[in-house]
Amino acid sequence: MQGNRQEYLKKYRIEHRDEIREYGKKYYALITREQKESRSKYRRDHAEETRKYSAEYRKKNEKKLREKARKYRSENAEEIKNKVKTSFGKYRESRLASAKRWRASLKQEVFSAYGKSCVCCGENNMPFLTIDHINGEGGKHRKSVNGRIYYWLKKNNFPPGFQTLCYNCNCGRRINGGVCPHLALEK
Ligand SMILES: [Zn+2]
Ligand SMILES: [Zn+2]
Repeated sequence: MQGNRQEYLKKYRIEHRDEIREYGKKYYALITREQKESRSKYRRDHAEETRKYSAEYRKKNEKKLREKARKYRSENAEEIKNKVKTSFGKYRESRLASAKRWRASLKQEVFSAYGKSCVCCGENNMPFLTIDHINGEGGKHRKSVNGRIYYWLKKNNFPPGFQTLCYNCNCGRRINGGVCPHLALEK
């Protein structure tokens, strides 16, 4: 009997899939803000459990989920494309602005750690300043961190071996065999 009922339900769900989905959508739109909040609060409070549960679920249903996602993408290709386009455009400005703020504050942190003026000539105009690899090899290192040298320095707690130089002295040093022409002039 039990088996029959399950069979029946399964069949029902398959046959009425679209209806059920619509109903779910409507229901979700109808539930109140508090209910939504209490749900997300529950998920926050039980973060570990929730994560574990969904990881297990995903693992168990990997194939099915992938197939489902593929189907969804192909059925809703146009809609997805538009959504991405508009949401991307909508938040573009604020995203760019926040990225800019983040880079500026990262730069501040880096030069607070290594000094806010060129160790060679004393230039202290922020846009002119760079971080110099004291022992050379700057190009190689920059490449290995994908050019994100400030980020790398911060992540590594501002290690020794770096100093603040202005662009001028940095280039001067590079083309003058490791010594800024400023210093060579003094001699
Ligand atoms: Zn300088
Ligand atoms: Zn110099």
